[in-house]
Amino acid sequence: MLMQSARPLGELENPCEFVARHIGIEATDEKLMLDVIGESSRRALIDSIVPRSIARKNAMNIPAATTEAAALAELKAMAAKNQLFKSFIGQGYHGTHTPGVILRNILENPAWYTAYTPYQAEISQGRMEALVNFQTMVCDLTGMPIANASMLDEATAAAEAMTLAKRSVKSKSNIFVVAGDCHPQTIEVVQTRAKPLGIEIRLANSGPEWDELLKGDYFGVLAQYPCTSGRIDDLRADADKVHAKQAALVVAADLLALTLLVPPGEFGADIVVGTTQRFGMPMGAGGPHAAYMACKDELKRSLPGRLVGVSVDSHGNPAYRLALQTREQHIRREKATSNICTAQVLPAVIASMYAVYHGPQGLKRIAQRVASYTAILARGLEQLGHKPRQDSAFDTLSLHTGDQTESFAARARSMRANLRVYYREYILISLDETTTRDDIELVWKVFMGEGGALPSFDAFEKGIEPMIPTQLRRTSAFLTHPVFNTHHSETGMLRYIRALSDKDLALDRSMIPLGSCTMKLNATSEMIPITWPEFANIHPFAPRDQQQGYAELDEQLRAWLCQATGYAGISLQPNAGSQGEYAGLLAIKAFHESKGQGHRNVCLIPSSAHGTNPASAQMVGMQVVVTACDDNGNVDLADLQAKCEQHSDKLACVMITYPSTHGVFEMQVKELCALVHKHGGRVYVDGANMNALVGVAAPGEFGGDVSHLNLHKTFCIPHGGGGPGVGPVCVVEDLVPFLPGHEAGGITGRAVGAISAAPLGNAAVLPISWMYCRMMGPEGLTQATEVAILSANYISARLKDHYPTLYASANGHVAHECILDLRPMKEASGVSAEDVAKRLIDYGFHAPTLSFPVAGTLMVEPTESETLDELDRFIGAMIAIREEIRRIERGEWPQDDNPLKHAPHTAASLIKGEWPHAYSREVGAAVLGEKRHAKYWPPVGRVDNVYGDRNLFCACVPMSAYE
Ligand SMILES: *Cc1c(COP(=O)(O)O)cnc(C)c1O
Repeated sequence: MLMQSARPLGELENPCEFVARHIGIEATDEKLMLDVIGESSRRALIDSIVPRSIARKNAMNIPAATTEAAALAELKAMAAKNQLFKSFIGQGYHGTHTPGVILRNILENPAWYTAYTPYQAEISQGRMEALVNFQTMVCDLTGMPIANASMLDEATAAAEAMTLAKRSVKSKSNIFVVAGDCHPQTIEVVQTRAKPLGIEIRLANSGPEWDELLKGDYFGVLAQYPCTSGRIDDLRADADKVHAKQAALVVAADLLALTLLVPPGEFGADIVVGTTQRFGMPMGAGGPHAAYMACKDELKRSLPGRLVGVSVDSHGNPAYRLALQTREQHIRREKATSNICTAQVLPAVIASMYAVYHGPQGLKRIAQRVASYTAILARGLEQLGHKPRQDSAFDTLSLHTGDQTESFAARARSMRANLRVYYREYILISLDETTTRDDIELVWKVFMGEGGALPSFDAFEKGIEPMIPTQLRRTSAFLTHPVFNTHHSETGMLRYIRALSDKDLALDRSMIPLGSCTMKLNATSEMIPITWPEFANIHPFAPRDQQQGYAELDEQLRAWLCQATGYAGISLQPNAGSQGEYAGLLAIKAFHESKGQGHRNVCLIPSSAHGTNPASAQMVGMQVVVTACDDNGNVDLADLQAKCEQHSDKLACVMITYPSTHGVFEMQVKELCALVHKHGGRVYVDGANMNALVGVAAPGEFGGDVSHLNLHKTFCIPHGGGGPGVGPVCVVEDLVPFLPGHEAGGITGRAVGAISAAPLGNAAVLPISWMYCRMMGPEGLTQATEVAILSANYISARLKDHYPTLYASANGHVAHECILDLRPMKEASGVSAEDVAKRLIDYGFHAPTLSFPVAGTLMVEPTESETLDELDRFIGAMIAIREEIRRIERGEWPQDDNPLKHAPHTAASLIKGEWPHAYSREVGAAVLGEKRHAKYWPPVGRVDNVYGDRNLFCACVPMSAYE
């Protein structure tokens, strides 16, 4: 499995060339850094930090490093094993033309893809404007008052809608009615989610069965609009029935269709979900794409996912920021209503730009063409004796083909086209933006008997009427805001995209030292393959034999990640870390059930855990019991033992993070694992901190039973401004049978159902992590870990006289990140950690992680990719800020008028007429000598979160607000 087919490199090539590009620290730097830390060698440093008891037993069995060119060639050969057939499958995934200007300037542009989640509002105005456009687009098209940005995929959005409905409606029923004509993967994911929560799913075919069910008892109803088989149902009467039961109507709707159809908001839907894939994001074998959720105003406070809202900055100008309840939903921990953290920001930006570029008229034209082609296709099929079953359609036709079904599908495949086989005796045919006349003729040919005559496209074209029922035709306007009606020339679009990215700070400008989030290099060579057509243009439900390239990618990457983690089995299906946690906990739950121990439902979680941990436990119906940490930040073993004993009979698992979110390698992790095992529980090791472990220690070896990885942290998938991510779930041998299945995607017979819409989740970004592993090799990966630890210790040591590191091991060392304690200086200066975070913006840096896991602190993670120069520049800025704080402490500047309290400083505020402050304009601007030419100017002053939360407004700002 690990054998590589590519040609070996010659004598003159350096296979480790990339390792030195990825790792920013050179050998000479290392010496200097070790001197500062007070260790003699990197080896000695690592030995003094990583507990001997957990040191890796075996080296990772991963192919040796190779060059960028060789890795690309090898991957290209693998990609060529994917076969690009014309897809008529539909089922939520459609061909789309990504406008070139968007492809190159967003999807392939590091200014967009290397950005972080917009927690620091002032440096994220560009992407938040794009996300507000996304929200406005979804609101307008669905006819709903509020929409988030974004959900992981349509199926998980539907599952989240179900739980949102359960929490919100008056009905006390635990029945959720699902239309049988929803996409099959949506039904599966909803079923997986419902099971541990005790929600009963009732499936109903349309007609009498449906009418009968709607008369019964339920808290919510899910319908697809248009249906997966193409029909467009009038749901108006159903909405009234549902509301009469005090229940909620959830509609999964196709946004392109909604340009022509009466939107769900106009017929009483309470929640609307769907995907925005066909707005410019390639199918990519299933992801990444942004899904959406829109809801009624009453539900907005419990909307999951991220919601961008408009507030004001310190100068009274409009400014964007994440709205309160979704800034970090999961911060509410076990009271959280969803565990979504990383979402699908980059795909959401792309979908929004697609709407900005085409505008309402353009979108309608695209939709009309699809609908008209569908009608033409139907006429031709009828002429050929295959009249579609339905009277209404937007883009999908359903044919009853009986026992000829497979032969038609095979005939299509022989012409390099995929039709969708539905319940063995139907064929569904879906059209999209990319469908041509030739494609339609191809379909006709599939159904044309021997010696038959091909229908004439031209004969049908003139005056063709789309098959949209008159009473369901949309009359309301949408996308009327100027942003959707301005940038339609390519020049205009290019400048709009550029103007937004110029407002933001991403990795292409400076280091982003975010603890726990691992913002490391996303190398260009890693990114290049994701837009290769062989990876980008495959339908997730295309036959397996056309996806051999993906199958191989999946198999190799899983094998390498097993090596890196010490686990026996891995699924790449979860499309964020949070979803990996969910899948991992489902595995533990199913394992206990298989042993007749289904009553084990207590999940122990230390107080220092990331908020997604308790949120995920809550989602699988586990009872969270919080355990204490001691003064050194370690899990308090005595407390853990007491809780294990107290809950021994009911113990399902413990969830720890290793090294801990406090940035230390706890010495007793093995004992901890053994203790939990003794009580019959399993150990979940949150793998977000794998950047401190790869090659050095393996959770699967030291006692972990399950982990998730964040490929968008440790394995170089860029954060994309808050997604996409990949959160593989990794398990030990006896849990392998409990990895998620996917019936619609051909992973059958598993105890745990699908947890993502697509069988391989965000498949299209997997080449990034593959390239990283392939180019680094086992030594390079290990070296990366060691240098990440070295750099964190260097920063901690350099800053110790200015900002003490809160937690360290006995010898004063930290793991791959350090928590700087700013609480002591608050007394004397009034300066908060947030003020320092905002002041760093003036110095051109994205702040470290603020107030997690300890309030009033900054958690710094430099990663191995930063150069010593950049580390020193960051340290220089931190020290300069400390000097500023000392001036406040000495009383030179008032506590309420100093460069920290007024940070960040916009250019406009510095050049304005009079200057009323106690410090000079130069000080305000914070230009550090050598980087004067590269000064980053924030577009807005400090954003007022409280104002925005009181006046929640989450759509495009009316132009009048800027007057
Ligand atoms: C990032 C992170 C998560 C969640 O991962 P997402 O991919 O954002 O869902 C969980 N635990 C820890 C410790 C993390 O840092």
